[in-house]
Amino acid sequence: MDVVAQIIERLAPDVPAQVAVRAAREEIEVVRGAVRQGQQVVAPDAIAEAGAVRARLVLADAPSPVINATGVIIHTNLGRAPLSERALDAVQAAAGGYSDLEFDLATGQRGSRSNHIADVVREVTGAEAALVLNNNAAAVFLALEAHARGREVLVARGESIEIGGGFRIPDILQASGVRLRDVGTTNRTRVGDYARAVTDDTAAIMRVHPSNFAQVGFTESPDARELASLARECGLLLINDLGSGALLDTTVYGLAQEPLIGEALEAGADLVTFSGDKLLGGPQAGVIVGSSQVIEPIARRPLARALRPDKMTIAGLRATLGHYLRGEAVDEVPVWQMIAAGGDDLRARAERVTNGRNGLRVVDSSAAVGGGSLPGQVLPSVAIEVTNSKSGADDVARRLRDSARPVIGRIHRRRLRLDMRTVLPRDERALREVLQAL
Ligand SMILES: *Cc1c(COP(=O)(O)O)cnc(C)c1O
Repeated sequence: MDVVAQIIERLAPDVPAQVAVRAAREEIEVVRGAVRQGQQVVAPDAIAEAGAVRARLVLADAPSPVINATGVIIHTNLGRAPLSERALDAVQAAAGGYSDLEFDLATGQRGSRSNHIADVVREVTGAEAALVLNNNAAAVFLALEAHARGREVLVARGESIEIGGGFRIPDILQASGVRLRDVGTTNRTRVGDYARAVTDDTAAIMRVHPSNFAQVGFTESPDARELASLARECGLLLINDLGSGALLDTTVYGLAQEPLIGEALEAGADLVTFSGDKLLGGPQAGVIVGSSQVIEPIARRPLARALRPDKMTIAGLRATLGHYLRGEAVDEVPVWQMIAAGGDDLRARAERVTNGRNGLRVVDSSAAVGGGSLPGQVLPSVAIEVTNSKSGADDVARRLRDSARPVIGRIHRRRLRLDMRTVLPRDERALREVLQAL
């Protein structure tokens, strides 16, 4: 029997033959390559089995849900912020039917997509105007493109950063047609450094939140208000890319202060940009807030259309912001629920999951906010440690990743740890079942 027939035999009857044929071809190609490299010839049976796995993957829904037990709350590789129940409902309602996305119910005429979201952003941040785009990279790019293309922008050397995934400040500036002018030194930059770098060609000063690293020791960065006065005096725009950007005070939870969006505006930034799916706890989006005078030219750029958010994003973001407006964000937004969770509560949840089973132990651990906020800051946490695995932590980690509901933990001193702070309460039962099967 040929490989295609064998693959089809292994698959559910509703798998189209062309998927099996492609999977067979690809698998055979892989095996050929391996044999050419001197590896052993694989039995047709094994090729068919691997081909069937390949075909099933093609037809599976993706991305597939996993349980985040890493202890990193905003984990970019795991999809960043989980949405609140209400935000999920809003996304589903927007996606599964028609809506007044660009329709004005009062007049029966065409309406504006951006009004659905700009008004709540303004309400929550206190800004005069707001624009929501696909993500914060788009927000930074378009703000620069609209206000500084063909001109120079001053960025402190210590803020000319890479946040991962190809987002490097110098590259974004270049892509938006802006010339980067470095100021100060890696560890210390003063207002005077910016003042000396200003020329007729300077359009803006840009501050960038360092996101995923912290500087300690002999460091200095300029006072936000002084820098704002300098920008005003010189007729420059002051752009502040907050990255995460907080609407609530993180110091309440024993953490350092993550810059607040409202404070950045108050300190005199003309434009503040931040992500929707970091500390805000909503869907992927990039938000620009500032005065109408600076926001409108950005909204009018031709690329604003290419970078605009879709209806699901608008619905999810609006619902998330609604939690802040109602003063219930800490109780309803999962990112904040996780930040605020108390040690006793986490311990009780860990005990419920382990249920006294052999080979599992509840231990103290430490979690992190992640998502480029509060680098180096830890939240005391509670984890389940897998203690008696003969096969080693890597093997346990792989088996947990292989389960029907993959669980992602982290290895600490050669043992696998599952941090409870990032396990959503609705996933506790699934986690218990995965551990039972271990
Ligand atoms: C995360 C981050 C970005 C990129 O935001 P996305 O929403 O992922 O596009 C830009 N700037 C800073 C400082 C960040 O931390």
